[in-house]
Amino acid sequence: MTRTEFLKAISLLGLYAPIQSVLGKESESQPEKYGFSGSVLIIGAGAAGLSAGFLLKQKGIKFKIIEAIAQHGGRMKVDRSFADFPISLGAEWISSNSIRFEPLADSKKVLSEIQTVGYRPDKEYGIWDRGKLIRGSFTNFNDRKFVNSSWFDFFEQYVAPSIQDSIVYNNPIKSINYEGEKTLVKSEKQEFIADRVIVTVPLAILQSGSIEFTPSLPEKKRETIDEILVWDGFKAFFEFEKKFYPAFVDYRIQPETDGQVSLYDAAWGQRSMKNILGLFSVGRPAKRYGSLSDEAFKEAILQEMDKIFDGQSSRYYIKHITQNWSKEPFTKGAYANDHADHRLFKYLQEPVDDKLFFAGDAYTSGHDWGNVHNAIQSAAQSVDEILLNK
Ligand SMILES: Cc1cc2nc3c(=O)[nH]c(=O)nc-3n(C[C@H](O)[C@H](O)[C@H](O)COP(=O)(O)OP(=O)(O)OC[C@H]3O[C@@H](n4cnc5c(N)ncnc54)[C@H](O)[C@@H]3O)c2cc1C
Repeated sequence: MTRTEFLKAISLLGLYAPIQSVLGKESESQPEKYGFSGSVLIIGAGAAGLSAGFLLKQKGIKFKIIEAIAQHGGRMKVDRSFADFPISLGAEWISSNSIRFEPLADSKKVLSEIQTVGYRPDKEYGIWDRGKLIRGSFTNFNDRKFVNSSWFDFFEQYVAPSIQDSIVYNNPIKSINYEGEKTLVKSEKQEFIADRVIVTVPLAILQSGSIEFTPSLPEKKRETIDEILVWDGFKAFFEFEKKFYPAFVDYRIQPETDGQVSLYDAAWGQRSMKNILGLFSVGRPAKRYGSLSDEAFKEAILQEMDKIFDGQSSRYYIKHITQNWSKEPFTKGAYANDHADHRLFKYLQEPVDDKLFFAGDAYTSGHDWGNVHNAIQSAAQSVDEILLNK
């Protein structure tokens, strides 16, 4: 069906006026090459949604990305005013043994254009355990960091420019109806229709029930959505007059399944004149930090850090910022907890009726989850699945 035939057909059905077709003129489809010539609607413009759009664009498939808020990037959000380098309020490390940016960009090219640094604080490592700071060394931490750049900046440079015109902002999706041949997706303001839909909203958003599916999602999928605990997530950054802290301090949390707290030198490897300490927390501790007012948090955390650093945090404190991911209405948490049963993830990822596809850091095969690489890979898988299906 051509674009004109399609528009005629939906106008005959009385659907034309309120519906924005995802058929755009920005890309030429190549049905003979892929066997799929339809249109795709992507819900969410985080790492997964942007990746899916980018890969579809490359393949000449028509698509649109619908994003709830005024900004793309999701959990790759960055603050540029706090320090003299970008502060990653969500995704920060490049967590992988082999640093790869494929399928979005050639890794060699990226690494020659964006500087990264191995996070190897070596002896500058400590564990805060029942009131004692035990010094140790870092042995098997292979993550890297961007230097004066970020995951968000990588997407800005390599991914967003070619697809930004296809993102519809400020449009939280409320319902997805996949009963018919085409899928009807509605926000409060608009309706969209497409042949395939890729859902990339965070798992906690599906858990919240704020998107209504018609028909309901299959039972096993619904059970799995509800079963996997999404950790709370809270980050903070502090500027101090002086650097008195080691590169990394991990809190010993008991039981481990309750979450994680790390204090780390956020300016490590950066071209920066500032002393910036980061606080990363997920799970129970993140819930506690996030339940406090900003003033109460400042008081509590300075007291906590004074115990670790002999009163120096209060003495040298200049300012701080916080990011509570659990309170973001379109995120509602950090990511699926590290201790979840890996066998469950395949149910999250499974397409429904070959119309609904799921991509994002939780919709993986279960080998790993909860980071940007996973979001990119699962987007690539969804795009492959769509192209293989007619
Ligand atoms: C505290 C914290 C630290 C982290 N640290 C790292 C790290 O160091 N390294 C790393 O690789 N990863 C890290 N991560 C994980 C990483 O941020 C995520 O895995 C990744 O960004 C997820 O991308 P996504 O596209 O799956 O989801 P998101 O980035 O959450 O994107 C989903 C998008 O969907 C939108 N949306 C939600 N609901 C709707 C709706 N109804 N309609 C339309 N749009 C909607 C959202 O606004 C959002 O833009 C961290 C995460 C947190 C919270």
